[in-house]
Amino acid sequence: MSITATATEPLVRCEGAARTYGTGATATVALQPTDCEVAPHARLALVGPSGSGKSTLLHLMAGLDAPTLGSVTWPAIGDRDALRPGPVAVIFQGPSLLPPLTIEENVALPLVLAGATDRDAHLAARVALELVDLVELADKLPEEISGGQAQRAAVARALAGEPRLILADEPTGQLDRANGAAVVDVLLAAAEHANAALVISTHDLTVAERLPDVWELHSGRLTIPNAKETSWSR
Ligand code: ADP
Ligand code: MG
Repeated sequence: MSITATATEPLVRCEGAARTYGTGATATVALQPTDCEVAPHARLALVGPSGSGKSTLLHLMAGLDAPTLGSVTWPAIGDRDALRPGPVAVIFQGPSLLPPLTIEENVALPLVLAGATDRDAHLAARVALELVDLVELADKLPEEISGGQAQRAAVARALAGEPRLILADEPTGQLDRANGAAVVDVLLAAAEHANAALVISTHDLTVAERLPDVWELHSGRLTIPNAKETSWSR
């Protein structure tokens, strides 16, 4: 089988991408000019202390925010407005489920909003809930499940959109170690199932060591230690 140029194009590319908040004397440089690419099938951890710029970089990669300098593009996907719903899924640290909806309805909602029929959306939600081992809780409300289960539901919701790039911003930050490990398990399983790339930001090294590639941020400066050729050119 021949590999086409499209198949190897990065999902996201940052070229001199920087983000400053505010202006003048009160400006904060959250991210220094940064060059990086996330290849299809990448599995990488973005580590750094609190305030080092992890969320800033992840939000740029997600197209949730725009750089104040440089550019962020999605060569294998398309324009910034093509990212959601679908190709780029984001999972945040805190609870993000809508309280009045059941777990299954929460997972199906983005698909319904994107125009899927109720039936198709719920079928996809079921498949995703199965993958994260939450089918038995499908009819519960968010307040009836634990924090770890809610994060797994958020992974299911991301997965149901058949993403090509899954970005998780400190997804285990509010969980104990066992529940955090379970969330990393389902993120890895979701990425495998969707054939997607996975980026997890974390300040927890036990999370980072689950991923083959680790990028480090310090004071808004990205370094890629142990850069393997595969991170860049796969
Ligand atoms: P991390 O996710 O690693 O904790 P962030 O990307 O959230 O780091 O923040 C990087 C820096 O940018 C920090 O100094 C933070 O205070 C600052 N920052 C982040 N968001 C904002 C904002 N909306 N307004 C002003 N400063 C911000
Ligand atoms: Mg953050």
